[in-house]
Amino acid sequence: MKGDLRMTKLPYIKQAGQAIFQDRFVKKANELLISADARNDSRFILVGAPLSKSSISHSGASFAPATIRKMLSSYSTYAIEENIELENEEIVDVGDIVMHPTDIVQSQKRIEDTVSELLEVHQTKQLILLGGDHSVSFPAIKAFAGGKRRVGVIQFDAHHDLRNLEDGGPTNGTPFRSLLESGSLKGEHLIQIGIRNFANGKAYSSYGKEQGVSIYTMKDVREQSLSLIVKEAIRKLENEVDVIYLSVDVDVLDQAFAPGCPAIGPGGMSSEELLNAILFLAQHDKVQGMDIVEIDPTLDFRDMTSRVAAWIILNFILGKRM
Ligand code: CA
Repeated sequence: MKGDLRMTKLPYIKQAGQAIFQDRFVKKANELLISADARNDSRFILVGAPLSKSSISHSGASFAPATIRKMLSSYSTYAIEENIELENEEIVDVGDIVMHPTDIVQSQKRIEDTVSELLEVHQTKQLILLGGDHSVSFPAIKAFAGGKRRVGVIQFDAHHDLRNLEDGGPTNGTPFRSLLESGSLKGEHLIQIGIRNFANGKAYSSYGKEQGVSIYTMKDVREQSLSLIVKEAIRKLENEVDVIYLSVDVDVLDQAFAPGCPAIGPGGMSSEELLNAILFLAQHDKVQGMDIVEIDPTLDFRDMTSRVAAWIILNFILGKRM
């Protein structure tokens, strides 16, 4: 048909969004993402929870799921250090949960309902949830703990996130308070790593200790090393809980490694330390879920922080292959 572009061969045209250069021997990590409709026996499921109106400071973390997915395209699927090729590890990408425009509690309910349903439909899959601010972890972990499963949480964070709910309702400062108060998580099953000076109120450190939360500060990380701390965390949880969930707030990183989060600050851990910890933890069978939160791509520099998130996803998958 004359004038019909579909009939015209344009050999130098590529679809918008496709890689500029394609190497027949190299698979890009974003190609691991497959549609939820595809028949598959994938072990991983990924969902975005783009909620950041609940942040107590300005946050564009609702843009993070899309940016993190995009950053996967910057990396290959081959881990040379372990000599493991991840090219056949598919991740079912179910998309993003639609957030209510104004109602934060309703948005959190949507997250809880969606995660519950995903876990029911995809029982054998590992959950990867992309925030959003840290408030998404309350409904996500509440759902993860559903079905009377005893859940343990290893939280990487500069902050306790144990603030009271009277001052501002369910924000990104309260998810673990809400989990403890709702009975979804026991204090002794929560392990906080990377808690930092001048980022918390004393009342919340005291509350955490009273509740039996294990708190490792950055001083502990410096003096004991993160690899010893995560080994201790696993030893503490593995016989006490049915499943372990990793909650990764990227503000646990020093601001040099994570410029794109609302609460940047000095004295945090390096991206190498965090990535090694994720790789180690993912190897444990009981580690079956993870969220990555508090990345604001609108504040970031060259998407550095979303790139760390892409590597956290890849290290999680790599750990499951080891
Ligand atoms: Ca946090």
